[in-house]
Amino acid sequence: MEIIVGKTSGFCNGVKFTINKANEMIKKHKKLYCLGQIVHNENVIKDLENKGMITINNIDECPNNSKLIIRAHGERKEIYEISKKRNIELIDLTCGKIKVIRKKISEKNSNHFIVIIGKKNHPEIIGVQSFSGNNSFVVEKESDIDDCVKSIEKTKLNKVYIISQTTFNSNEFDNLTNILTTKLNKEIIIDKTICPATSNRQKETDELSKKVDVMIIVGGKNSSNTKELEVISTKNCGNVYLIQDYSDLKKIKIDKKSKIGIMAGASTPDIVVEEIIKYLEGENMKELYNQIENYKPLTEKEKEDKEVILNFMKNNDNCLLRENKIAHFTASGWIVNKKRDKVLMIYHNIYDSWAWVGGHADGDSDLLHVVKKEIEEETGITKLKQLYDGIYGINIVTVEAHKKRGKQVNAHLHFDLEYLFEADENDKLTIKEDENSNVGWVPLEEVNDYTTEEKMKPIYKYLSDKLKKIK
Ligand code: SF4
Repeated sequence: MEIIVGKTSGFCNGVKFTINKANEMIKKHKKLYCLGQIVHNENVIKDLENKGMITINNIDECPNNSKLIIRAHGERKEIYEISKKRNIELIDLTCGKIKVIRKKISEKNSNHFIVIIGKKNHPEIIGVQSFSGNNSFVVEKESDIDDCVKSIEKTKLNKVYIISQTTFNSNEFDNLTNILTTKLNKEIIIDKTICPATSNRQKETDELSKKVDVMIIVGGKNSSNTKELEVISTKNCGNVYLIQDYSDLKKIKIDKKSKIGIMAGASTPDIVVEEIIKYLEGENMKELYNQIENYKPLTEKEKEDKEVILNFMKNNDNCLLRENKIAHFTASGWIVNKKRDKVLMIYHNIYDSWAWVGGHADGDSDLLHVVKKEIEEETGITKLKQLYDGIYGINIVTVEAHKKRGKQVNAHLHFDLEYLFEADENDKLTIKEDENSNVGWVPLEEVNDYTTEEKMKPIYKYLSDKLKKIK
């Protein structure tokens, strides 16, 4: 399983500001009201409510002389007026970008008809429209355009100012404005006020969802920008899941070999994505644990190594990564020719010896996938036939302290899982020059004359001898 998290995933600056400020204010005042969901994310709301924030749906629920948060989306103009009358102190956390849109509209509404491209019932749009005077129209979809044109024609205004919801789909905005402008004979200003945080995230979601098998979109179910990410992904990927947090994954079956893309909406904290990754990797670790547990060792050493690995896995959830300096997983291939009298080996620069082909798991719990990738990179062989179903051998290998690309690597253990393959010895071989200086077929009976690593000799002998028992 490979997991790719989008670089633009998660909190935008506006949401970050709102949440930080809300936390600061709650610490100071202990009790605060918030009109509507502060951001569209249940986890963030719960956290703030536990600290003393009270979410209300109507300003009537807010007592006089109290303190009221205006969330990132902003509010209707009348809320500011009512608050003033009732001595409600506003903590206005409206995102700066939305304030700019409101200001532009307020400046233009006396001599322009204002067209807002956005979701009619979205709080941002309801708030923004309240600053647009008497001549405005919200266009959400193509079927709204004719009514919009009629509304414009009814007024004597010759100028039209078109703006966008900050989280609207960029292509859809272009599409709707193109249709609208062809139907109007007016002076038109198009101001694409889609927030860069939104457009960058949508662009990356589009690219990422083309590259993966499964796309996980994380965010509130009523978050407009999150839903948009789901819509974009669905165009490119057949397995798209919109989830609020890792617990939603329990109902979803994801193929362990999948390449997974994760993109979180603007109101999703990083911790939620981190928990999802942990969950996915934890599920992977369970699978790997089961594979090792089901492996039947043939020697006392293998039996002991298997027990040590299983115990270590219970307390080290990072043992797929090199960051675990004591031990981490690697995978190796024992690649034989059709006659089964030769084995494919590489001449390893660091160990200055012929050695098996393999490499580090580096977070991938599918060790079979790891070894196939390594074989292709280190030998150029792409056609492989797996001769033994599952793990062929288990070995703990000690790695002595050494220098790698000028950096000190301390002594540690490799939990190596071996897999048995057959390859055609006529296939073209290539050398991965930054790690090896040769690659070639070595007579099976002479493997231990080729290797200068004493510790590897019993392992190579074991893998060769085991081959004789396989039909
Ligand atoms: S998406 Fe953009 S406009 Fe919306 S809250 Fe975030 S920074 Fe502000």
